[in-house]
Order: sequence, then C-alpha cells, then structure tokens
Amino acid sequence: MMTESEIRELICEVGRRMYAKNLVSANDGNITVRLEENRYLCTPSGVSKGFMEPDHLVIADGEGNKISGDGKVTSEFFTHLAAYEERPDVNAVVHAHPPKAVGFTLAGMSMADWVLPEVVFVLGGIPTTEYATPASKEGGMVIRELIRECDALLLDRHGAVTVGPDLMDAFFKMEKIEHAAETLLTAHLLGNTRPLSKEEIDRILITRKGFGVKGKMYSS
Ligand SMILES: [Zn+2]
Repeated sequence: MMTESEIRELICEVGRRMYAKNLVSANDGNITVRLEENRYLCTPSGVSKGFMEPDHLVIADGEGNKISGDGKVTSEFFTHLAAYEERPDVNAVVHAHPPKAVGFTLAGMSMADWVLPEVVFVLGGIPTTEYATPASKEGGMVIRELIRECDALLLDRHGAVTVGPDLMDAFFKMEKIEHAAETLLTAHLLGNTRPLSKEEIDRILITRKGFGVKGKMYSS
C-alpha cells in the first residue's frame, strides 16, 4: 500500500512521462487517484503535467469541492468522478489528448474492433463516447455507461480516458491506446487492416485467462 506522499510523487512522474510522450500538450490532461471513499488526489487545473511538484496537487471530495491544496480542482473532475462512481474496482483515472487516437475520432474511425492481439489481450476494443464539451459536466455523462464495460475509451474529438486499480495500470493503458493508434494508422497508410480470426481470438482469450489479466474487455 503506497503512502499519500508516494502517490503524489508517482502522479508527478506519470505527468512528466505523459508530457514527454506527447500524450498531452501545454496544460492538457489530468490524473486522479482515489485515496479513500470521498477523497480524491487530483492534478490542479492550469498546470502543465510535465512540470508538477507533489505540493501542487489538490484533494477533492466526491462532489468536486476542494478539501486541501492551493490550486483549483482539475476541470475534468466530473468525468473522473463518473468512472469512480460506476467502478468500485477503479482507484486511478488518467485523461490525456493522445493525438493519433484523437485523430481517429476526428476522422470518424473506430478503434473498437479486435484487430491487434496485444491490445485485445489487455483491453479488448477501445470504444468512442458521444461528443461532450471539454471540462463540462457532460463529460461525466457521456462516459458513464461505457466505462462500466471498458478500461480505456476515446472521447469524441477530444481525448482519451483510462482507468485501473492503480495509477501505473491506468497510465500504461493510456500509452497502449496511442501505441495502438499509431500502429493502426500505419496499417491504414499501407493498405487494409486484416481482422483476427475467431480461432485466434479464442486463443488470446484462453491465454488472457491463464495469465489472470484483470480489467474489463470491451466488445462492440
Ligand atoms: Zn481534455
């Protein structure tokens, strides 16, 4: 079990990596961790995720009110809160703007099909929500239903949300989304994307079970 101060350090480290990997630009994106019921450690709004210090983080309650910290609670708090409300198994939520994955939503192309074995293994498909104005309460409404069925989703023409039992798990899922988008984009540039056979999908599911991989697998 990590202490609050270790979680603060980890949020800053994940923020630096998200910024360095171009999953966010400027002050985009946000990270939250559920410390306990009704107590969430959040990145502050208006601060670059690449340059955060542990004492920049704020703590909010389950209604988005600040409990402690100098900054403002992240502007996407209600999107994160919807994930926590729907998923008692989730203790961390990451939101970023991975450019290639968002490009898929801009082009109206889905990433929900099961085409990449390594992505199927961890996430199944990656669905896209309805459009919602960024930083609005609508953000929580559009993810609520889908997040019950998946651990990684795309926000139409905006970004992506990933969830996990801990922060590293949620962060790795965000990396995986953009890596998958880059691979799919390359395939689209080169020609067609070939589907996995039913037999191969069955083999992946058996292997997944054997490894005890947890988390939701989205199927469209
Ligand atoms: Zn955003």
